[in-house]
Amino acid sequence: MKEKKSTMEELEKELTFKKENFFEVADEKKVKEAFNYADDYKKYLDNSKTEREAVKTSIEYAEKHGFTEYKFGDKIKKGDKKYLNNRGKNLILFKIGKNDLAKDGIRILASHIDSPRLDIKQNPLYEDSGMAYLKTHYYGGIKKYQWTAIPLALHGVVVLENGKSVEVRIGEREDEPVFYVDDLLPHLSREQYTKPVSTAIDGETLNVLVGGRAFKDKEVKEKVKFSVLKAINEQYGMKEADFMSAELCAVPAYNAKDVGFDRALIGGYGHDDKVCSYPALTAICNAETDDRTIMVVLADKEEIGSEGNTGMQCGIFSDLIDVISLSFGVHSAVVRAKSKCLSADVTAGYDPNFASVYEKRNSSLVSCGTSICKFTGSGGKGGSSDASAEFVGYVRNLLDKNGVNWQTAELGKVDAGGGGTVAKYIAKLNIDTVDIGVPVISMHAPYEVISKGDLYSTYEAFLAFVK
Ligand code: MN
Ligand code: MN
Repeated sequence: MKEKKSTMEELEKELTFKKENFFEVADEKKVKEAFNYADDYKKYLDNSKTEREAVKTSIEYAEKHGFTEYKFGDKIKKGDKKYLNNRGKNLILFKIGKNDLAKDGIRILASHIDSPRLDIKQNPLYEDSGMAYLKTHYYGGIKKYQWTAIPLALHGVVVLENGKSVEVRIGEREDEPVFYVDDLLPHLSREQYTKPVSTAIDGETLNVLVGGRAFKDKEVKEKVKFSVLKAINEQYGMKEADFMSAELCAVPAYNAKDVGFDRALIGGYGHDDKVCSYPALTAICNAETDDRTIMVVLADKEEIGSEGNTGMQCGIFSDLIDVISLSFGVHSAVVRAKSKCLSADVTAGYDPNFASVYEKRNSSLVSCGTSICKFTGSGGKGGSSDASAEFVGYVRNLLDKNGVNWQTAELGKVDAGGGGTVAKYIAKLNIDTVDIGVPVISMHAPYEVISKGDLYSTYEAFLAFVK
């Protein structure tokens, strides 16, 4: 009798699917690797707060691993390790393998390097009541109240009157000032408290405090504004009109740190989607294969719909596939049909504090591994490319064979909301594509949280996919 029961127990175990926690299934060695990998990731994240910075830090990493710059028109040959820098805001890395492109296609990892933030308007500077501010226009889906009363840094570029481009990065170093968006004191918030969170802070009140010193001169009319103008002129050679040809972003002024007594988690700004970009970048650079042709896309503008000439919808991606295919005498239609893509983006980690919006059976659990999202979209899969069972089956088997900790997820409850990724723009080109990535807690907040186990599982998944 006893023996029979244990057989049934075994059979139940075999027939049932159960998510497994990375820290329970990984051995000591792997956990140590995951922690070391996380330390390097934190540095990457701190140096990549905007897409421009992410392109720079990624190029630096790639060059250390033997990649060199490619420009349209250059010859492409087997063994090449190249990167295409699209306007300093979008980077495509590729490695040409020995395999026949017509048979093997390209293995593509696509993630994005832009994150929600406050963009400075084109005519932003004004003074009011002894303080100077910059007007902002928020970028991406933010909860406005989260961006008040926290230290902010300014990152970006200004193209001056003389055409010269000046880089701005202020608020990060210990000796640098930070910037700030005001919030209302609780004592006078009776009316604000009655408003829904979506309107409690108005978009036009997200003004960045940049000065408070009245210039001591009778002739000067706007004294605080003048102090600021003088300072930015001295520091960057800027005049007020130069804001019009600038891309300045206010981003959180703090760096990534371990979260929790056990240090299993990481808090940081911009995990979405650098937490997938970094594994994609490190996978193409460290993949031990000369056979496969691999491509990594680090896209801009995902947070505002993948638009423009640096977003995933830009033709540069398919142009590059065309050019690579042509270099080996293959039509790109043939190459795309044989290519496979992991659209690497974060998923919503199940949060027990907000359990009502999640459907727990189909949510990503933090530390239960990299999360495959068969579809995204909203209101009944609207706007989703919905990967095929065959392709999900392929990816799933691959991850199992390589001992990768993984799970599947949807964003949340069917009617709770929705979202999308770059997946559909790649799938549209006749490339099998599925979303996969790291579960995030407090997605799009100025400080998001992820698990080191999930970060490392995602890296392992990408390595398995490209090898
Ligand atoms: Mn994302
Ligand atoms: Mn996002």
